[in-house]
Amino acid sequence: MTTYFNYPSKELQDELKKIAQAIVAPGKGILAADESVATMGKRLQDIGVENTEDNRRAYRQLLFCSDDKLADNISGVILFHETLYQKTDDGTPFPEVLKKKGIIPGIKVDKGVVPLFGSEDEVTTQGLDDLAARCAQYKKDGCDFAKWRCVLKIGKNTPSYQSILENANVLARYASICQSQRIVPIVEPEVLPDGDHDLDRAQKVTETVLAAVYKALNDHHVYLEGTLLKPNMVTAGQSAKKNTPEEIGLATVLALRRTVPAAVTGVTFLSGGQSEEEASVNLSAINNVPLGRPWALTFSYGRALQASVLRAWGGKKENIAAGQAELLKRAKANGDASLGKYQAGSAGSGSGSLFVANHAY
Ligand code: 13P
Repeated sequence: MTTYFNYPSKELQDELKKIAQAIVAPGKGILAADESVATMGKRLQDIGVENTEDNRRAYRQLLFCSDDKLADNISGVILFHETLYQKTDDGTPFPEVLKKKGIIPGIKVDKGVVPLFGSEDEVTTQGLDDLAARCAQYKKDGCDFAKWRCVLKIGKNTPSYQSILENANVLARYASICQSQRIVPIVEPEVLPDGDHDLDRAQKVTETVLAAVYKALNDHHVYLEGTLLKPNMVTAGQSAKKNTPEEIGLATVLALRRTVPAAVTGVTFLSGGQSEEEASVNLSAINNVPLGRPWALTFSYGRALQASVLRAWGGKKENIAAGQAELLKRAKANGDASLGKYQAGSAGSGSGSLFVANHAY
């Protein structure tokens, strides 16, 4: 086995690290607005809005044209391919709207999950084949970071060695391709909350998965300072008894400390079906764990930043301002939480549970 390798140029390292640091600047995190057409359709259906390209555009316009204060707490937005090329009513491309506010556009580059043959309903994520060319184009079109989501499931026999290894490797290959095209990869190995397992089991599985991911990133010479990790928080299974935010915070920070190198610039948690309020309270608890935390610990929420927005908007023009007010409220709550300063209940009660079984994005 040879270990010969050239590090990326100093210039590329600096560019990637600067982007990653800007995304996890104190008090800031990511709005994940990269729902696929099908997933966005489900969200719109919930509020009685038809899933047309123009309705998807109108909704994303509401998000991105919120007051400039949004940028106090939102450093980056993850877009879906279609959204990257959509425009506001007055013809301004969405990435320009975001950049004008000082928000960095990012892009979902995975093409969804497919079954692992012979496994117990496990999956891997596809989209590598033309990834370098797509990243090159996305960089030209204004994106500085990307997201790729892998999914792992907790069951009696899962996650299997096959799925742990395969998903770690595909994430590493994705990260390496992104960096070659000057794009910061967000590495997302999501351990789903589905099941009745306890907190210890969730913690151990998360540790095992993250350890495999960082071994693979190392094997693929990924420049860690120019990456972000997007993990699940460690919680007991959806149908098990809930733990306190302090217990969730401790289990999460322990799992990260045991597996995530200090060189990684930041961790941006997904909300994973938690209610808006739980996602804020738990992130704040994580940032209050009395143990060393060498990385920024912040948010990259989809459902937990958008549920109240969708409900307040309801597809009606006259409710756009009300929807935007909800977004600003939850963004501020999560910005405070990323500093360990969120007071439970101070942003209102928010949504109920946002759990979706076997969630696809
Ligand atoms: P949730 O916050 O809704 O879990 O989604 C975030 C995300 O981007 C998942 O890939």
